[in-house]
Amino acid sequence: MIESFLSFLVTPPANITATLCWSVIGLMIGSFLNVVIYRIPIMMQRESENYLALENDQPPPHTDRYNLITPRSACPHCAHKLSLADNLPVLSFVWLKACCRYCKARLSWRYPGVELLTASLSALVVWHLGSGIAGISGLILLWMLIAMSFIDLDTQLLPDELTLPLMWLGLLINLDGTFVPLRDAVIGAAAGYLFLWLVYWMFLAATGKEGIGYGDFKLLAALGAWMGWTMLPLIVLLSSVVGATFGLLMIALKRHQRDKPIPFGPFLATAGLITLLVGQPIVNSWLAPF
Ligand SMILES: [Zn+2]
Repeated sequence: MIESFLSFLVTPPANITATLCWSVIGLMIGSFLNVVIYRIPIMMQRESENYLALENDQPPPHTDRYNLITPRSACPHCAHKLSLADNLPVLSFVWLKACCRYCKARLSWRYPGVELLTASLSALVVWHLGSGIAGISGLILLWMLIAMSFIDLDTQLLPDELTLPLMWLGLLINLDGTFVPLRDAVIGAAAGYLFLWLVYWMFLAATGKEGIGYGDFKLLAALGAWMGWTMLPLIVLLSSVVGATFGLLMIALKRHQRDKPIPFGPFLATAGLITLLVGQPIVNSWLAPF
């Protein structure tokens, strides 16, 4: 496994210009992902409040337009609308010294963090998969995984609005076998869901607690649709390793409160990304002795 990882690191870049271009585009996409991460949970909340009101013959509490585009971005502290110059990925944050231009409130490091993460991982995906159909679809997978991971961290939810389209997209991308044959993708989607569903019920029976959520089943189903059923054991193994490492780190740093559940989505997403990039060589090296 270490050997295949090292050989991945020294693989010559497919195209340096494409990698650089996509890292700049990744910065802008990261800026949009910040909006997605912030707004999708609010949109879901508003929708369910409107639905509840409708069920009780009450007027809907939210009638203004609120989606990923409207209203324009505003400062979370003073609600002042942001201009284009306040909204440039990373640059505005550095230029304004991490403060709002209007009310001087401190801005979260998360915004440039998500932008830089998206840029660097986009570069990694294009570097490794090229800028053809596999690379571009890999980028879409990456961006959706980043959005879902942060939404799960914030709200402990993986919205159906993201997990289900990601699964359908994985099946469609593999119609022509971009990553795996369609047959493997379909079995991967079903087996991914079923596996975590079984783990959920076994955990519930053993401990009386819900260990993972339904969103996690759907995310593993989506990863199975993208990478095929043969990659599922590796994804589950890697997500447990990433999760355990993270958990130990949090305990060591005394950051984790025992009662607060740790969302599993970000670990599945990280494992999915590692598998997309180096899954095949890892599995090949496992199967080599047989
Ligand atoms: Zn402000």
